[in-house]
Amino acid sequence: MDDYIITKAPIIEAMQKGKEVVWINPDKRPFAESACTCELSMKDVDDAEARLLRFAPFIMKCFPETRDRGGLIESSLTSIPRMKDLVNRKYNSGISGTLLLKQDSHLAIAGSVKARGGIYEVLKHTEDRALAHGLLSLEDDYAKLADPECRTFFEQYTVQVGSTGNLGMSIGIMSAAIGYQVIVHMSADAKQWKKELLRSHGVTVMEYQSDYSEAVKHGRKLSDENPNSYFVDDENSRNLFLGYAVAAKRLVGQLQEKNIVINREHPLFVYIPCGVGGAPGGISFGLKQIWGDDVHCFFVEPVQAPCMLVGMASGLNSTISVQDIGLSGRTHADGLAVGRASGFVGDIMKPLLSGEFTIQDAKLYDYMRDMLDAEGIFLEPSACAAFQGIVTMNKSEEMRRYLEDNRLTDKMADAVHIAWATGGSLVPDKIREEYRQTYL
Ligand SMILES: *Cc1c(COP(=O)(O)O)cnc(C)c1O
Repeated sequence: MDDYIITKAPIIEAMQKGKEVVWINPDKRPFAESACTCELSMKDVDDAEARLLRFAPFIMKCFPETRDRGGLIESSLTSIPRMKDLVNRKYNSGISGTLLLKQDSHLAIAGSVKARGGIYEVLKHTEDRALAHGLLSLEDDYAKLADPECRTFFEQYTVQVGSTGNLGMSIGIMSAAIGYQVIVHMSADAKQWKKELLRSHGVTVMEYQSDYSEAVKHGRKLSDENPNSYFVDDENSRNLFLGYAVAAKRLVGQLQEKNIVINREHPLFVYIPCGVGGAPGGISFGLKQIWGDDVHCFFVEPVQAPCMLVGMASGLNSTISVQDIGLSGRTHADGLAVGRASGFVGDIMKPLLSGEFTIQDAKLYDYMRDMLDAEGIFLEPSACAAFQGIVTMNKSEEMRRYLEDNRLTDKMADAVHIAWATGGSLVPDKIREEYRQTYL
């Protein structure tokens, strides 16, 4: 199997050696062609956005920190010109145009991008249950879900999820707020402080000595045995995916506020850290619906856990794992330690994704310190993977050719780059200090 894969995708040989790579997706197609083959469309994203709006009064009531945004869980889009100067000086990156940071690291409630997909999934499930039992109608003020009789109703039900940490936090905190019994099945690599935070919300945390897929397997089994239990399936959930996709619609207004226009002459480049694929896939899917061929989406994965890239480059999607090519799947990047990508997301992204970068763990900490020095913004190491695209794009022959093939070379002075920062604000001070001192 090894030799076959390597002839088909020579890049896999470099990946097996743990090298950083840049990969351009040969299967990307013009957006107009890809749209008609996809099982999801903008209509589904609109539906998700409307649902989040219905829940806004409830969210505002339970989580007063969302009051500023009227109960919407949304993050700032921030110019980071000093980081642009720093990477150009320190790494000779040659980045021109505008550099922005999407601060999902600071999303309310869960402090990571999972506050989009994870929370949306819990709300969707809650609405389905409440409508079916006549507890709620679509025209109601959803703040009533915080009333004692609604809570008592939801206390009969259980929500379960397998997680390396951040997904468990978003599902756990929101489920507990509604009233559900919650069980989060945590893999061995999940951080202690995340388990403690969840327990403080009344969530049951089950710990496993094995990796993520074992935690998921056991969690699913327990959930299936209980007719009143709902299992959140990170790998295949359309709901999670659509919750992430709503980010794109909200970005439209945020760019407008900054008087930034995206079109053929002003292309948008987005770099998003990728684990199983739901978050970067959902966000990219939404962005493509809005800006089509004018937005260029790149995922970034750790060199030891590039599950989406292995699947895409080999053409084997989720039938191949990083362990199949001899990689460990282990990384310091929380949320990205995934050995096998979502097959559902792989299928959707095949004609949409522009390419991928991989990154060595040591650089996650370097970019984290760079962001603190340049902008005074703390991001968790996994989120800093996004900067690999910005730092290295102009040093790569593959990327040079991509820009040329897409007739973008002369437009880069007017390009807009977004580093999608996926997590960080809930990391305790003590752990932040440990990260600052980490040199690999
Ligand atoms: C989960 C996560 C990601 C990636 O999301 P997937 O849906 O697993 O691809 C990226 N960054 C952080 C901080 C995460 O927690």
